[in-house]
Amino acid sequence: MRRSLQNEGVLLYAFTCGYITLPTSYFIGGEAGKTKVPACVFLIDHPNGLALFDTGFSDRFVGLEQGLGKIVDMPQEHPIAERLRAMEVDPADISWIINSHLHLDHAGGNHLLPNATVIVQDSEWRFGFSGEDGAYATEDFDTGQTIRRISGEHDLYGDGSVILFPTPGHTPGHQSARVRTATGEAVLAGDCCNFRRSLDEMRMPDQVYNADHYRGSLTRLSELRRAGAQIFYGHDPDFWATVPQGETLDLGA
Ligand SMILES: [Zn+2]
Repeated sequence: MRRSLQNEGVLLYAFTCGYITLPTSYFIGGEAGKTKVPACVFLIDHPNGLALFDTGFSDRFVGLEQGLGKIVDMPQEHPIAERLRAMEVDPADISWIINSHLHLDHAGGNHLLPNATVIVQDSEWRFGFSGEDGAYATEDFDTGQTIRRISGEHDLYGDGSVILFPTPGHTPGHQSARVRTATGEAVLAGDCCNFRRSLDEMRMPDQVYNADHYRGSLTRLSELRRAGAQIFYGHDPDFWATVPQGETLDLGA
């Protein structure tokens, strides 16, 4: 990957880094059956450095058929380091990892980005060690990297192009990102909004950490969507099938 011009501003790329099959009600309340959903990862290419929004599942799931390996599908080319190399980006060149939260489908690739500073909400970092929620694996996120614990909104590059903002409810310290590119504004939702239908119908999963906070986060996203932002839903297989992988995203398309 090579920038053709220094003044292109922010470029955004999407990757699938593994899949998990879970009861559909984990994503949208009251529905029967199971759904196989993607783990969604974004590369943000800014003239002042590369950042990832989430890192998908760990490479330890490649070929694993026991335990969680029964529900996690991690093809060999899916770990984030492989995704980056496929587009000629050295994983060592990633400066920041923004973790929406620290569940294992979002922070599993952190250890593959050796020079990245991890940016996470302080409340999320503390909850990850509490042992209250089995979807956290400390081996995924307690990796010795520099951790920047923030509380509230954060302007990553100091120019308003990438704004992290709290969207709690799924977990205590969940955050999302607004990314301003030349073609429009993206909202990288993470798990505060799993499906497009979640927002269309303002529906929560059956189980959430805090329902009031979750509803508030959905409302915030709904306002951003109405104002013209394109929402990238956290785990929507149908929506995700329309998102080109590893190519510059055109938000005006
Ligand atoms: Zn998730």
